[in-house]
Amino acid sequence: MAKQHTTKTATCRRCYATLRSTQSVTRGIGAHCERMERREAAIREAGYKPHQVESARELIEDGAIVPLHGDLFVVVSSDGSEFYETTAHTCGCPAFEAGRRCYHRAAVLLAA
Ligand SMILES: [Zn+2]
Ligand SMILES: [Zn+2]
Repeated sequence: MAKQHTTKTATCRRCYATLRSTQSVTRGIGAHCERMERREAAIREAGYKPHQVESARELIEDGAIVPLHGDLFVVVSSDGSEFYETTAHTCGCPAFEAGRRCYHRAAVLLAA
């Protein structure tokens, strides 16, 4: 009896995990990574620079951003010495207080 279908796999272009679902294999990216890419694209559209998106991603990978309650997160400063309370709209860091766009909020948008 002939096989009805073969199970195709592919590698996620973002995290290199093995993809098994037909949809993911067709797209070449896993569902989670696709969602993250869409969020990163939205963050870039909001005016964040690619290196800020990168820093935001590292913050999440390092576990340096922790949900507190609701949309409030605590982020650890880049040198690990301080903590800032951050939401998608406000941040307690000096950069934000100086009116600059800080990547902490980009991380909240990514992590939310
Ligand atoms: Zn992936
Ligand atoms: Zn900040």
